[in-house]
Amino acid sequence: MAETEFVLDLNDDQKEVRSWLHGFAADVMRPAAAEWDEREETPWPVIQEAAKIGLYSLDFYAQQYFDPTGLGIPMTMEELFWGDAGIALSIVGTGLAAVGVLANGTEEQIGTWVPQMYGDANDVKVAAFCSSEPDAGSDVASMRTRAVYDEAKDEWVLNGTKTWATNGGIADVHVVVAAVDPELGSKGHASFIVPPGTPGLSQGQKFKKHGIRASHTAEVVLDNVRVPGHCLLGGKEKLDERLARARERAKGGERIKNAAMATFEASRPAVGAMAVGTARAAYEVALEYAKTREQFGRPIIDNQGVAFQLADMRTSVDAARLLVWRASWMGVSGRKFESAEGSMSKLFASETAKKVTAQAIQLLGGNGYTREYPVERMHRDAAIYSIFEGTSEIQRLVIARTLSGMPIR
Ligand SMILES: Cc1cc2nc3c(=O)[nH]c(=O)nc-3n(C[C@H](O)[C@H](O)[C@H](O)COP(=O)(O)OP(=O)(O)OC[C@H]3O[C@@H](n4cnc5c(N)ncnc54)[C@H](O)[C@@H]3O)c2cc1C
Repeated sequence: MAETEFVLDLNDDQKEVRSWLHGFAADVMRPAAAEWDEREETPWPVIQEAAKIGLYSLDFYAQQYFDPTGLGIPMTMEELFWGDAGIALSIVGTGLAAVGVLANGTEEQIGTWVPQMYGDANDVKVAAFCSSEPDAGSDVASMRTRAVYDEAKDEWVLNGTKTWATNGGIADVHVVVAAVDPELGSKGHASFIVPPGTPGLSQGQKFKKHGIRASHTAEVVLDNVRVPGHCLLGGKEKLDERLARARERAKGGERIKNAAMATFEASRPAVGAMAVGTARAAYEVALEYAKTREQFGRPIIDNQGVAFQLADMRTSVDAARLLVWRASWMGVSGRKFESAEGSMSKLFASETAKKVTAQAIQLLGGNGYTREYPVERMHRDAAIYSIFEGTSEIQRLVIARTLSGMPIR
């Protein structure tokens, strides 16, 4: 991969894109945020608006994903999640499934399935990535969903229950991770495309959540779901080779290194950037409020106790963004994550979002505690970042293991 310098200045094209994203976030997402949070439904009209201007599209997402500076995705996530986290997740949730195909699929699979995930501006679609299960959250290796090959028909048969799937059940295309060889733990997993309308796939319960309520989260039940052989991402030959290598190593007692870890290091900064967006949004509301709210005859920001909090809030938001940008740049420039910098960025940004949104509520006093002001919603939304895509505890485990080389549990 080409060497790219770490540059902190966005170039002119990026600045233009950021300002376009900011406009959509401020003018379309923010005003709709409270309504969709209350409705707890996918904001289809907003997704459609985004599709009309090319923001909800494979082209736009791919352009940011392949941006050689690494800053395209973090910049996009920060602006959209600054607008509103629930609506933003409804817009970028499809991207999580698309990345699952980009990371493991053949060129033909990418060309066939990824465009279908988005649909078009007149008929938008969403996609879902289904890995988590009721008994396999942080412990992905204990996944129970099985994929069995029916050689006579060249079909894979999937059985199991997935949970917490963003867009699960309402998606056209589902990407499902299943165990092909459970003895090999996560090395025995493979990913499958379940095409739209495949019999046997159904939505289980839809969760009523604390935050990001505009984003649909549900169980996905797989009951003898049959998909054609070509729906195995990467193809059978590659899978057979990978499984044979893993079995050889397991036989020799060799500890199987998890290749997925490198992928996670590269994808986690994107979640960090979402957290930065929410944290920045709450900080900005709090700063404005502190400058205008008067008590004891002067703006509350005149008190050091208030001003110092704002100083700390802004310092952590900027620190989080720097960690996110560093890790994103490392990902695209092919640098090794020798200190788990991707996990570091997600850990710090997620914890920052929780802290800064809680401080914002405090600075708004009674108003902060009501739904008349957005910081209450932002605080509820912020709680997700330290849970999905690996909890904060799992990030700490990864960082500590990487730094020490010890099998810390
Ligand atoms: C809104 C939402 C959307 C989601 N979207 C998706 C999606 O689209 N696709 C998908 O596949 N999944 C999705 N997830 C699932 C998410 O990734 C999991 O919830 C997450 O990985 C944690 O798993 P768990 O909920 O089973 O918690 P558990 O793994 O049961 O963890 C419970 C607690 O124990 C701690 N813990 C567990 N193991 C250890 C350990 N070894 N050391 C220290 N502490 C530990 C955890 O940190 C946590 O605090 C989503 C979840 C939510 C809430």
